[in-house]
Amino acid sequence: MRRPRVLSGIRPTGQGFQLGNYLGAVQHWAAMQDDNECFFFLADLHALTANPQPEQLRARTRESVAELLAMGVDPSRSTVFVQSHLPQHPELGWILSCLTGFGEASRMTQFKDSQQRDKGEGSVGLFTYPVLQAADILMYQADAVPIGEDQRQHLELTRDLAQRFNHRYGDTFVLPAPYAGRAGERIKDLQDPSRKMSKSIGGNGTVWVLDEPAVVTKKIRSAVTDTGREVRATGDKPGITNLLTILSVVTGDGVGELEGRYEGRGYGDFKADVAAEVVELFAPVRERYAELMADPGHLDSVLAQGAASARVVADRTMTEVRERVGLLPPAPARQAG
Ligand code: ATP
Ligand code: MG
Repeated sequence: MRRPRVLSGIRPTGQGFQLGNYLGAVQHWAAMQDDNECFFFLADLHALTANPQPEQLRARTRESVAELLAMGVDPSRSTVFVQSHLPQHPELGWILSCLTGFGEASRMTQFKDSQQRDKGEGSVGLFTYPVLQAADILMYQADAVPIGEDQRQHLELTRDLAQRFNHRYGDTFVLPAPYAGRAGERIKDLQDPSRKMSKSIGGNGTVWVLDEPAVVTKKIRSAVTDTGREVRATGDKPGITNLLTILSVVTGDGVGELEGRYEGRGYGDFKADVAAEVVELFAPVRERYAELMADPGHLDSVLAQGAASARVVADRTMTEVRERVGLLPPAPARQAG
């Protein structure tokens, strides 16, 4: 029996990974590596929807690999690769886009949000990226996809497309199981707790995994808090609730227990403790990151090996997909002479 397969990706956008990426996604990746066959990738094709500078994208992609490894992703147990190294992804994306309704894609809330932000001027890439994401997942026949809450609707679309394909062309794809609600799946921006922390938005409300300890402390101490002095996770206290969630996920102590601990102590002590825990959490990551970045040859070989392992699976899937949808296989090249 094969181990369950896990796949997840992250975009090499922004200036690094942020606290929410770690708490909502990457810490789970690291923890799942023993019991699952894991595939983790840098979604550089998805990063193109943000129109980055070429040099910046290249640099961020390499730094992102080092960051992932520093956060506990282990290439000796997991396949770590760059999405664009496998042209099978956009190929399957195209095939799935022909099974996706225009209205269906228009209902994706992330797309609607970006339409609003870009005043209707967003790219076609932003519109179709959930379909490419479905291809990323289905390519590897993933059983589970550890993601933050913001990606859940896209996972639903992925399941719908898999089902539609299987129904129309015969059983081909595994339906990835939705990942049940976990604490930390939606860490909020420290300056604006009405929205999630995002690496491509950044700013003082974003804690970078690689921030200097003094910077982390300053950002958490100046997090927007709510009126009153009670450290309680209630609907009218989104800022404090967010910090409680962070402290709870980092320490493993329940939110109720933490509320009790800070009873009558005000926000100052509480924020200082949240800051100290986050600093401690990321100290070894910063150290390991510096070591990894000092050896770019190692990072390249991780990616080369990762692409080779991913290609074995992707080729198998695409041979079957091409056959099922009726694409004529290329005739074998004639031997010269
Ligand atoms: P971008 O702004 O470029 O979209 P992002 O911070 O949203 O960056 P992604 O690369 O889109 O990061 O997502 C990587 C993973 O991190 C996904 O599984 C996503 O659900 C998760 N994630 C992103 N932001 C948060 C957050 N604030 N809380 C929990 N999980 C998050
Ligand atoms: Mg995102």
